[in-house]
Amino acid sequence: MARKERDYSWPPAPEALPLPVTDNHTHLESLGDVARGGVAAPNIDEVIALSKSVGVARMVQVGCDLDSARATISLIEAHAELAGAVAIHPNEAPLHARTADLGPDGLEPHYMARHEVSLDDAIAEIGRLARHLGIVAIGETGLDWFRTGPQGRVTQIESFRAHIALARELGLALQIHDRDAHADVIDVLRRDGAPERTVFHCFSGDAEMARVANEHGWFMSFAGPVTFGANEGLRDALRTADQGLILVETDAPYLTPHPFRGRPNAPYLTPHTVRKIAEVKDVSLEEACTFIETNTQRVYGTW
Ligand SMILES: [Zn+2]
Repeated sequence: MARKERDYSWPPAPEALPLPVTDNHTHLESLGDVARGGVAAPNIDEVIALSKSVGVARMVQVGCDLDSARATISLIEAHAELAGAVAIHPNEAPLHARTADLGPDGLEPHYMARHEVSLDDAIAEIGRLARHLGIVAIGETGLDWFRTGPQGRVTQIESFRAHIALARELGLALQIHDRDAHADVIDVLRRDGAPERTVFHCFSGDAEMARVANEHGWFMSFAGPVTFGANEGLRDALRTADQGLILVETDAPYLTPHPFRGRPNAPYLTPHTVRKIAEVKDVSLEEACTFIETNTQRVYGTW
């Protein structure tokens, strides 16, 4: 039997949520990066309008390399629905510091013009951008032990600590990227003192880690993977998470929720994940929207 052609088209919009929520982590500048098979990415105005039409009223646009951090400033200036987060991603830090062993794809490190800037200078630039009106968080920063060698790990820890210090200095929320590095992320946060509002973006821990987050008052942002059939451990974590610490995100254009896994993602698909959160927490959809939005405003304020 012939293999089914992979579908790269943008999924249809879901049924609207009864109350507005915020997608607290998305990369709108990267929507074009996932365009395959001749399918063009929708433009950002269309995506925002479609998102609003299904109840995703606001988004936190995340720029986590020097180029996308600068793009984030332009995007939040142009769109009232957006607030911003800026940082040097843990997989970017070793490229600036020239300590990368492998790229995140497992291939040779892929250097670009922006990596001519030293890591210290890059973080200083993030510090300048973060003072811009409408920037509500430092992120995503953290640790990514997936295919990172010993030198790169040392650089990531230095970079993570500098970002924690920056968030504390500016009184901003911190969005954490934690890939295969739960214990070390928690260790750094405990030693340095987590910012008052700390969010695990695309939370990927188990129930035990959710208990640790509950204890510290760290927010857990759930993305598409919580809708995937095999991820019962992640749903256990969601069951354990304090209702007052739960957020929702797409991490678009990646991590598309079920039933559209493998196709491109955008903030208008957030309702699939909200519906799963309501189901797992055994609350009405209205209730889920309400606690997610209340928590979002506690972390980032309103805009
Ligand atoms: Zn992200």
